[in-house]
Amino acid sequence: MSSDLAVILLGAGGGNRLGAGGSKALIRIGGKVMARWAAEALCAAEGVSRLIAVGPPDPAQTASLKEACEGLTEEIVAVRGGARRRDSVWAGLMAAQGREMVLVHDAARPFVSTQLAERVIAAARVDDAAVPAIPVADTLVRGEERGVGDLVPREDLWAVQTPQVFRRDLLVEAHRQADPSWDAPDDGSMVRRLGRRVALVPGDSENFKVTWPKDLGRARLIATGLEWFRSPAEEEQMQYPRVGFGWDVHPLREGRPFHLVGVELTTEFGPLGHSDGDPLSHAVADALLGAAGAGDIGLLFPDTDPRYKGMPGPDLLRETVDHLYRQGWRPLQVDAVLILDRPKIAPHRETLRARLAEILGLPASAVSVKGKRTEGLGGLADGAGVGAQAVATLVRQR
Ligand code: MG
Repeated sequence: MSSDLAVILLGAGGGNRLGAGGSKALIRIGGKVMARWAAEALCAAEGVSRLIAVGPPDPAQTASLKEACEGLTEEIVAVRGGARRRDSVWAGLMAAQGREMVLVHDAARPFVSTQLAERVIAAARVDDAAVPAIPVADTLVRGEERGVGDLVPREDLWAVQTPQVFRRDLLVEAHRQADPSWDAPDDGSMVRRLGRRVALVPGDSENFKVTWPKDLGRARLIATGLEWFRSPAEEEQMQYPRVGFGWDVHPLREGRPFHLVGVELTTEFGPLGHSDGDPLSHAVADALLGAAGAGDIGLLFPDTDPRYKGMPGPDLLRETVDHLYRQGWRPLQVDAVLILDRPKIAPHRETLRARLAEILGLPASAVSVKGKRTEGLGGLADGAGVGAQAVATLVRQR
């Protein structure tokens, strides 16, 4: 695809409804001026070669836009806007001479996406003119002096957005032909007045226009990442950490070996169980599975299955981690506590931690193991048993 498209970014609006007391494009949202948000998305679109910023001259903004669009082949250009929107677009069109296509966008729509721009560009390459629009969701009525008037059927009503994309010569022609006194609301309407078809591309509700002070509040929430709407499927793909909890207990019997995550403790007694009875591995595995909402070790390694008889804790943990990897999860962090009166855990603490970290593929700093005595209370007291509890954090793999 050739680079033949100039972006005309309109930032001339006064922002009166916003109470901005100056150019809307220069209002800061999340540490960046509004115009820069749009410029970053638009300059990344396929085929864009030049950015023309229309508005009051502002060296700081121009520098910021240059940074946002440094991948472009041509220098960005700043031109002064006119009194009406159409005058500003005209100034942009003049600065876009020699370009095949132009994309006109209001800087007051900071959350335009590169994908939306590319959809509109693709449609305009076919139809010469294309605008994005979203179906009107609210019930529409005419207002009458005394109240609600007639219902306006909304089935074929669309709310038009920018970016709008045109063959440059077609938009120049539309501007030349338009009644000079007409303060056209957008460029798509001007091309329509020529009697030419304008393709309609599904827009994006996130690409809203910052008009009122409330819109600015919403824009700032979005900029901090707090407000994006996500579908359940998108939510699933997010990097939010998930937390799981696991608990396990085994009785202690004389003559059994005592293994924790593969580390043998020297004792006269050890845990009893279908597997090797390693409560640390089992609690951690359950915490990991719990975080993924993927059941528990009883489900994954049923004790009715002879394959798992005497299964060492590390093997069970590794299989659990592999199982979760296949589902797109990876462990981030684990904290575990062993509950028993003897033997003492403190001397083994660092060894257990290092071993567990190695099995999970985590740095030791992301793993913690500690011992806690029963103080003579409960069924685990006086060497009767060993318990373990663990919390684990998982994230989606990138
Ligand atoms: Mg167990």
